[in-house]
Amino acid sequence: MTEIKLIDWLQRQPGTKGIGDDCFIYSDLVFTTDMMVEGVHFEQTDAPEAVGYKTLARGLSDIAAMGATPRFCLLSLAVPAWANDAWVKRFYKGLLKLGVPLTGGDLSHASQLVCDIMVCGQVAQGKALRRDGAMPGDHIYVSGELGANARDHFKRPPEPRLALGRKLIGKATACMDLSDGLSLDLHRLCIASGVAADLEAIPVAKGATLDQALHGGEDYELLFTSKTPLRLAGIKRIGTIRKGKSGAIRLDGKPLKPAGYDHFR
Ligand SMILES: [Mg+2]
Repeated sequence: MTEIKLIDWLQRQPGTKGIGDDCFIYSDLVFTTDMMVEGVHFEQTDAPEAVGYKTLARGLSDIAAMGATPRFCLLSLAVPAWANDAWVKRFYKGLLKLGVPLTGGDLSHASQLVCDIMVCGQVAQGKALRRDGAMPGDHIYVSGELGANARDHFKRPPEPRLALGRKLIGKATACMDLSDGLSLDLHRLCIASGVAADLEAIPVAKGATLDQALHGGEDYELLFTSKTPLRLAGIKRIGTIRKGKSGAIRLDGKPLKPAGYDHFR
């Protein structure tokens, strides 16, 4: 089962609500959770400050994707025997560097280290950026070059695009953050909006390959669409939304398969 199929199944179950965007919107608040697992998202040899920082920064990238401002976070941490007190303290120091109040959480032990963050953000009611508003003819943008993190073996700390997200309120018709690779994330945005897309120009980071820019993942840039051309520092126009089979993407006229990272594949 793929992540898309599982989410699609969940969305159809009675008792679920609002699943499928970067955050769940409740009145003027948005909520996201993000999990980091030893051996999947980081290694024992990584600096604990970097693991703590990345845990929260990934959640903040989802807050940025909604155009929201982070207000507080809660963290659950399961600690294995190899992680001593000093490791745990350095982990929290790294997380707190981002300046978002940590207001609680849970502690447990486990055979591998797992950390799960919940972040709450705030945005004017009814104004949050969503994935499902892209329309045929919209311009597609990304907030920066892609593939740098895949090129650097995923050791680059995410830089959540919070300021840009806020600027896109009222301008972007759809927005999400790029966590699993452009090909898969644009596919998800197109499915949510019921549209297809044509990619024309991919901004590949220096030293990265086109493959890494399309499918590498962990770019933590914003992917967004707009009815009118946008002129904002650093953003790159990469294509056009079109009518067609929901989720279908073409690059230079040829079909592009969504080949980014899927935990369930
Ligand atoms: Mg996201």
